[in-house]
Amino acid sequence: MPESEPSIFTRIIAREIPADIVFENETLIAFRDINPQAAVHLLVVPKTGAYPSVVELAAAEPQLLAEIVAVARDLATEHSNGEFRLVFNTGATAGQTVLHAHAHVLSGALPEGTLA
Ligand code: 5GP
Repeated sequence: MPESEPSIFTRIIAREIPADIVFENETLIAFRDINPQAAVHLLVVPKTGAYPSVVELAAAEPQLLAEIVAVARDLATEHSNGEFRLVFNTGATAGQTVLHAHAHVLSGALPEGTLA
């Protein structure tokens, strides 16, 4: 995909693609992962598509990273028992498939013997 094309997440934010949205404010959106790996598997996504991964996001807007963590905590409390795994896949060989920074929030029954 050429870099100029909007990511799948940008298209979800623009409501061009449906998603099960569970949270939204001015800077972030959260929705259920289409291929859940845990009883609760949400994606917390900055609305800006400027950052391909959490590395660029953290360097440019560290407060946005803190906001992602706070939203993850709130969503894990609302949808599960408040305990959660926060995963940022960074780079293709680490499993990143969407080049638009995002956090996986996994809670409830997690897959055994894996970190993702
Ligand atoms: P990554 O592999 O980049 O860390 O995470 C991308 C995640 O986005 C994957 O877990 C994948 O299941 C999810 N995903 C990909 N396309 C869609 C979509 O169209 N809708 C939703 N809700 N999730 C998606």
